Amino acid sequence: MLQPESHDAAPADTLWDVLVVGTGMGGSTVGHELARSGRRVLFLERGHFLFGSADRGNGTIPFDADDSPESRLRRGHWPLPLQGRTSFGPTEFFAPLGCGSGGSSGLYAAQLERLLPADFEPRANYPEAGDCTLPESWPISYQEFVPWYRRAEKLYGVRGTPDPLNPDPDSALREPPSLSARDQDFDESFRAL
Ligand SMILES: Cc1cc2nc3c(=O)[nH]c(=O)nc-3n(C[C@H](O)[C@H](O)[C@H](O)COP(=O)(O)OP(=O)(O)OC[C@H]3O[C@@H](n4cnc5c(N)ncnc54)[C@H](O)[C@@H]3O)c2cc1C
Repeated sequence: MLQPESHDAAPADTLWDVLVVGTGMGGSTVGHELARSGRRVLFLERGHFLFGSADRGNGTIPFDADDSPESRLRRGHWPLPLQGRTSFGPTEFFAPLGCGSGGSSGLYAAQLERLLPADFEPRANYPEAGDCTLPESWPISYQEFVPWYRRAEKLYGVRGTPDPLNPDPDSALREPPSLSARDQDFDESFRAL
């Protein structure tokens, strides 16, 4: 039903160093870095190659539009509903997941913020959680991530002002664009609080 497509004339004729499954923010970033360091990288993507030919409509997530798998794939959305079970019983729903070049970054809100150091020690944030599987800490720390955050922010040209709650004098954030009048009003009223 859903035909895979290839943009390499004969991918089987090349000896690839790395196969990256999925071209979302994660896969495409790591594949890009590996390709730039000289590795031959093959991306395998379930959805369509969307640049230029994407049918994005007006940019909203059209839950009420044509929900056929083909139509969803053309818009860059995950084609099939997910099935799950909740305390209300079984359920089926379309998850807000991207499918196609760019993955979910075709839908996302484009806020590229860092996690906070405390996010890497989740158990301490929820002392009342009791008997649960929330780990004390992740196997990696925020500090180990910092050089990669800097590289990713540079790669994606992230704009913003330094986070006063999590300062990093060596981050290379580009200057943010000026706020619209409405956002400026919101910002000022927020700061006044
Ligand atoms: C509405 C919305 C708003 C968001 N806003 C933000 C935000 O502002 N800031 C932020 O940081 N994050 C945001 N997120 C979250 C962010 O978009 C995701 O965390 C991120 O895109 C996940 O990247 P990923 O590469 O892990 O997965 P995805 O981007 O989901 O990519 C996975 C890719 O793998 C492909 N794939 C899956 N299975 C296969 C298979 N078997 N074979 C081949 N290919 C396969 C998929 O088609 C897809 O292209 C938002 C998400 C949504 C839905």
